[in-house]
Amino acid sequence: MSYQDLLDTIKQNNLIVDEQILKAVFDFAKQAHQGQVRQTGEPYTDHLVEVAAILADLHQDQTTLVSALLHDVLDETTTTSDQLAKHFGNEVADLVSGVSQIGRVKIRGSINKIFTENVRKMFISMAKDIRVILIRLADRLHNMRTLSAVPISKQKRIALETLDIYAPLAERLGMGQIKGELEDLAFPYVYPKEYEWLMGIADPYIEEADKITDEAIQLIKEKLSQNKLDVDVSGRPKRKYSLYKKLLRPEIDKDINKIYDLSAIRVITKSKPDCYAVLGLVHDLWQPVPYIGISDFIAVPKPNGYQSLHTKIFDHKGHIVEVQIRSEEMHAIAEYGAATHALYSEAKALGASDENLQKGIAFNLTSKMAWVKQLAIWQQDLDLKLDVLSERIYVFSPKGDVYDLPKGATPVDFAFAVHTDLGSHIQGAKVNQKIVALTEALKSGDMVEIIKSKESRRPNRDWLQTVKTAKARNKITKFRNSSPN
Ligand code: MN
Repeated sequence: MSYQDLLDTIKQNNLIVDEQILKAVFDFAKQAHQGQVRQTGEPYTDHLVEVAAILADLHQDQTTLVSALLHDVLDETTTTSDQLAKHFGNEVADLVSGVSQIGRVKIRGSINKIFTENVRKMFISMAKDIRVILIRLADRLHNMRTLSAVPISKQKRIALETLDIYAPLAERLGMGQIKGELEDLAFPYVYPKEYEWLMGIADPYIEEADKITDEAIQLIKEKLSQNKLDVDVSGRPKRKYSLYKKLLRPEIDKDINKIYDLSAIRVITKSKPDCYAVLGLVHDLWQPVPYIGISDFIAVPKPNGYQSLHTKIFDHKGHIVEVQIRSEEMHAIAEYGAATHALYSEAKALGASDENLQKGIAFNLTSKMAWVKQLAIWQQDLDLKLDVLSERIYVFSPKGDVYDLPKGATPVDFAFAVHTDLGSHIQGAKVNQKIVALTEALKSGDMVEIIKSKESRRPNRDWLQTVKTAKARNKITKFRNSSPN
């Protein structure tokens, strides 16, 4: 993708961007990455432009697009954050530094639910601005699209991290489209045998389903245009990984004949009343399937805020087809989540004009408080509440496992969190490879290594003054009482 392609994408999305600034930033990035090529053999700038274009499709603002073009200069070139601030301002420098910082959060250690959930929480707690996460997601999406060029030894680790960290993060942010694409890109690398099995059994069904869908789309389009409804009708994209997971459900028991939404159609309307009008016309055209027919997620949204009408009908040949009906705004929220939801509600609250809202240029949430709160309310996710997050720190073990500790926790807390046995053999500690005092408070992102003594050691009484976890405090007290002074 060329710089010109990026400009075209920006124009297609009706975004207003100062082209002179954008060009200056692109030239700066090009100069900084001079001589670097991607593993695909393409110039490095190709990647930068692709990442910015993904964000332009998400209707992000100029600062985000500019930061996307610069997102790798701190890690891959000699450019410093101060230089970025001097040339492009503090906001851009902060965003790029944030992107670089969370890029260091990786699954390097154990694959285990608790650790991967901690990595996701760490991500969110480290990002001071939701745009940092959006840029990282766009970066990962483009890296996944080009994963075949990466050495095979690295492919599986990157794909696994995508499946365990990035896709759930996109889901949590309500970004259904990006979540689906990340999963499908990662699937064949993480589970090659299962992928092959799925393709073997599903291919003929998918082909058949596509034919059924195309015919049904034609008939719905005719019906709706006769009734003067201004709508957009299309086939819903098929997601292989989600089909695979569905097949594994006990009630499906790997029988693809029990999957009733292989043929699925989406109708996007201009308003909520139109959704119900479309539903009536669809049922006038075809009969709903008894019992599994209709779900009204507009009246009763899903917990993550998803709104849509779903109905399963028998088409004119007796095939089951799912029809999803939702307004443009509901669709934007379902597919792009935090990228639009936060924009809409905040910008409206701040009095942005409808015209600017439509163009997607109204406002970006920059306050961490605002976006984490928004996310928590919207997801009804208590774990994500800012007051909870800001009271926690996330630190790495030398293996790369992420531990979730209270703010102010010390290397002693860390040792006991890892294992009681490690807590009873503390000789010293290193943080980011430097020796530190055992009473020193850790920070999010620190890599903590406990220097183990050969013999078990009686914990120091002073540690009780500084530890923050109940586990460390209880164990220290217990060990002190049980061994002679
Ligand atoms: Mn990158």
